[in-house]
Amino acid sequence: MLTVLEPATEAVLAEVPRAGAAEVDAAVANARAALPAWRALAPADRARVLGALADVLAGAHEELAVLEARNAGKTIADARGEMAMVVDTFRYYSGAPERLLGDTIPAAGGQAFTVREPLGVVGLITPWNFPLTIASWKLAPALAAGNTVVLKPAELTPLTALRFAELAADAGVPAGVINVVVGPGSTCGQRLVEHPDVAKIAFTGSTEVGRTIAAAAAAQIKRVTLELGGKSANIVFADADLEAAAAAAPGAVFGNAGQDCCARSRILVQESVVDRFLELLEQHVTALRVGDPLDEATQMGPLISQAQRESVSSFLDGEAPIAIRGSAPEGKGFWFAPAVLAPVRPEQRVAREEVFGPVAAVIAFAEEPDAIRLANDSIYGLSGSIWTRDGARALRVARAVETGVLSINSNTSVRVSTPFGGFKQSGYGRELGSHALEAYTEMKTIFYATE
Ligand code: NDP
Repeated sequence: MLTVLEPATEAVLAEVPRAGAAEVDAAVANARAALPAWRALAPADRARVLGALADVLAGAHEELAVLEARNAGKTIADARGEMAMVVDTFRYYSGAPERLLGDTIPAAGGQAFTVREPLGVVGLITPWNFPLTIASWKLAPALAAGNTVVLKPAELTPLTALRFAELAADAGVPAGVINVVVGPGSTCGQRLVEHPDVAKIAFTGSTEVGRTIAAAAAAQIKRVTLELGGKSANIVFADADLEAAAAAAPGAVFGNAGQDCCARSRILVQESVVDRFLELLEQHVTALRVGDPLDEATQMGPLISQAQRESVSSFLDGEAPIAIRGSAPEGKGFWFAPAVLAPVRPEQRVAREEVFGPVAAVIAFAEEPDAIRLANDSIYGLSGSIWTRDGARALRVARAVETGVLSINSNTSVRVSTPFGGFKQSGYGRELGSHALEAYTEMKTIFYATE
């Protein structure tokens, strides 16, 4: 059995059977058996099933939010927002089956055109930081395109995925179309990657595991999309609305207790305003309410596990001074008080490695080219922000920064309707928006001779 803990209390939340390679094989066989009927369903009928699933998920919104908040240690406000996004994601892709369009292409002697075919059985491997949300970003477009799926959630947070499978059955999703297997990445995840009947792996998690998956998938030229780590820069120019930038910065790095691949954990501030920015930032960091995730007023919960707390603590090693420290509860629970390190030099570890916890590094820069150089001085390229009142500068810098998603005078990264994914070692492929459908279909070219 697998013991699932509640990070805020360290108490046992659930015991669930732990699957191994044999259960993965059975799930893949089920998905394979369900594939012909699912892909043959008329587009409008597949759309109706996904719409019904969105309705059932909306009906279970509060139940799912509480389960996610307890299992992942995230605040109930965040969990509600995330579950609303899960519903919206299914709603959005319920419009996709009838919009999988192709091209007609002039060709000598006949007519050429393209169609989009489903890949087959798709393996989804997801992390513990946004469990059902990230799963939905993969599930909804995969199903809309006519694939069947095997989902392996992270062992730390399997509960909403298991409940989701029950709700999908209630909504009328045919048996075998969605399969959930709860077991370790080293056995279940690996078996999914190596299984000859799995056409594609969609993975979100660490760059290290992503690298292993890409290498193993290469043996079968298996399709892979990877959403991996990040070390995003939040660039604050002297001409920005500093009050707004400082008020928004904590949410961008301490949201989800910093366990966010889009965390703006490098705050690059123009040197002439660093002191003023830190002064403004301090009031927001010290006022952050860290505590019980189910308390409506809480703004940050615990970390996911003791191992994660040890990993995050290792960044407070004295290499850079702690300029600002928030507070956190004492006692049971994987608590960690948010910290801002300043001044940080670009070569220091906290400026280079993904912390995946509530630790921000403030790094000073002189001029615009220095900001761009520092922002790009990373193996990652997932997200980022630019704060300035100069519109031309905002666009210049946005084009020069090597990341997949950027916001100007905002720290948001993710929308159901816009593509999301990384440059460099933050991964490849895009999720969400209409672009995600490309990652769950193969394009086929058909030529019909007319002579
Ligand atoms: P992992 O990358 O190990 O886990 C992500 C998922 O992959 C989990 O479902 C995991 O299973 C599975 N997995 C692990 N090993 C394999 C494998 N060999 N083959 C197939 N699947 C596998 O992340 P961690 O949970 O270990 O977190 C470590 C660090 O990764 C974090 O501190 C953070 O830096 C980064 N991370 C980034 C995320 C992002 O959103 N980009 C999300 C999560 C982590 P299981 O855990 O059940 O064993």
